[in-house]
Amino acid sequence: MLPEFTPVNNLTTQMAQQEIATLQKRLTDYGVAYYEEDAPLVEDYIYDAFYARLVLLEAQFPQFVTPDSPTQNVGGAKVKSGLAKVVHPAPMLSLGDVFSLEELQEWDERTTKTLGFQSEYNLELKIDGLAVALTYVDGKLVQASTRGNGSIGEDVTANVKTIRSIPQTLTEPITIEVRGEIYMPKSSFATLNKQREADGLEPFANPRNAAAGSLRQLNVAITKKRELSAFVYYTADPDAIGVTTQSGALERFAALGLPTDDHNRVIAKMADIDAYIAEYTSQRERLAYGIDGVVVKVNHLDNQLDLGHTVKIPRWAIAYKFPPEEALTVVLDIEWTVGRTGAVTPTAVMDPVQLAGTTVQRASLHNPDYLNAKDIRIGDTVTLHKAGDIIPEIGQVLLAERPANNQVYDIPTFCPACHSELVHLDGEVALRCINPFCVAQIQEKLTHFASRNAMNIDGMGPRVVSQLLKANYIQDVASIYRLQETQLLSLDKFKEKSVTNLLSAITTSKSNSLERLLFGLGIRMVGAKAARLIAEKFKTLQAIADASVIDIASIAGIGETIALSVVQYFKTPEAKQLLIELREAGVNQTYLSDVIVDETSFFYGKKIVLTGKLEKGSRTEATKWLQDHGAQVTGSVSAKTDLLIAGEDAGSKLDKANALGVTVWDEQAFIEAQAKEGTDK
Ligand SMILES: [Zn+2]
Repeated sequence: MLPEFTPVNNLTTQMAQQEIATLQKRLTDYGVAYYEEDAPLVEDYIYDAFYARLVLLEAQFPQFVTPDSPTQNVGGAKVKSGLAKVVHPAPMLSLGDVFSLEELQEWDERTTKTLGFQSEYNLELKIDGLAVALTYVDGKLVQASTRGNGSIGEDVTANVKTIRSIPQTLTEPITIEVRGEIYMPKSSFATLNKQREADGLEPFANPRNAAAGSLRQLNVAITKKRELSAFVYYTADPDAIGVTTQSGALERFAALGLPTDDHNRVIAKMADIDAYIAEYTSQRERLAYGIDGVVVKVNHLDNQLDLGHTVKIPRWAIAYKFPPEEALTVVLDIEWTVGRTGAVTPTAVMDPVQLAGTTVQRASLHNPDYLNAKDIRIGDTVTLHKAGDIIPEIGQVLLAERPANNQVYDIPTFCPACHSELVHLDGEVALRCINPFCVAQIQEKLTHFASRNAMNIDGMGPRVVSQLLKANYIQDVASIYRLQETQLLSLDKFKEKSVTNLLSAITTSKSNSLERLLFGLGIRMVGAKAARLIAEKFKTLQAIADASVIDIASIAGIGETIALSVVQYFKTPEAKQLLIELREAGVNQTYLSDVIVDETSFFYGKKIVLTGKLEKGSRTEATKWLQDHGAQVTGSVSAKTDLLIAGEDAGSKLDKANALGVTVWDEQAFIEAQAKEGTDK
């Protein structure tokens, strides 16, 4: 919560001096944490509000402005050591920002007055990322740097070259420096934080900090893994590409092969911004990346030149920041859940409340340190917002609303599932259950094994896994392959048809390529992507089990921590036994696919069922081919099935597909489509 600021006119000189000194110190600390450690101490809007207050006070009392005031440094921070320095040919200015439509109006009036006429504006979404400069010489990317302090940035060329949306070569052999924003898509941010929690690491506060932390890495392999993306929106050298407007520049960037955000709009007068703001306030939730406002730029570049810039900010552009969307609610309970790696994570359960378009009832509290630092207690009233536009997060406790006698929340010391003592492993913030027989961990491990990106056993979700565990029909992943029809039939809600479907899905999963199995084993730090890279290199599960840390870490994109985790896993007697049992059960342990999945394939992302006898090649081969093209091959037909491929003597699945109106192909149609995939690409 923000303090009530004393109106500037009511301040004595002494009070102002004191407040300015306090604000300078505070903002410097916040800046160091934010820029150098990628770990902000406060919410952005609080930083912004203090900053705006300091600007205001310093304007009224200029005698107290010091050279090291945060208002006097472009980026607000020193450059982090480790990465090489790059001097920007023209300073990389940040934008001035406003927080209300009135301030925007005032900015428009000043601009109009200076120019002598009403300018046209180009509106762009303000991407929640970090600014970079990209230098192309004769169309080739030769350098990438961060903003740093505005004059000197950091060399992140090697890191940026791992970002797929940034071209290494432009479509024309021109020499130009362009600037833009590197960001982490919401989906990658959510996955990354989930993984970090499972690995016992501190989650990133928002996608921007995640992007900054991922880009500014001496180890390029880490950047590559983080799935960053980018938008380009500026060049200091418009003559190089022959453009006269900002909107025209965006079009040229796109034609050069540079990534641009096409949500920009040209407006004739400031009042037209209202519709744009309203539109993106409501669509914000659905965008693939986080935005925190709208950038207004004078559209004609010669007008921009006329307006010029101050030491810190251009006069021809301004950022309008969305007001923080916040809600108040009451914490009803704190739940602790055990993940498959044993990390025990707290979640606040709250009174349901509407927030930025969705009903929110739960928010992760990440780990005990986080919970303690915020001092959240059951019964507390808290502020709630969405970090990076997506993840519900508790801002802070309203102490004034705290019920009397409300006790400090006790962090559990025993596992909520198996009651064994919890531990803190070295270097981890997470609390962990290390009991290998912990029922919650086994449940999570088995659910993970059967999940879509792992072995993809349709019909074996958390509920069924729990049923099977309770009946003691399964104990580990190998036992899934020993399930009997009679056992399944004895379970509640299992009919003959669902039993057949589940058994057929289990059988289908035996022919999965190695990377699915490897990911399914749930080895710590080994995500789907790492599993694919490792499987690709070693080809068989045995070869992976025999590999050394150095062998595994030699793969681009795989670090030593992952390699070590893999080696440790395969050393355990349980893993050795599991390998034997899986082999006996007939589960494929070889890497089958050398194809990088083509997202433009007709089959990509489709749910497909194979049935009947195929003339040309086996069902296993067809399954592999479909999976290589990004299809999800399942064992049973449902309303969600996109396509049934029916060979000779197709039976009940064909009838069901016809009844549900699912598209059905015969083998010939499939062969023709396969041939087409080959020639189109
Ligand atoms: Zn446990």
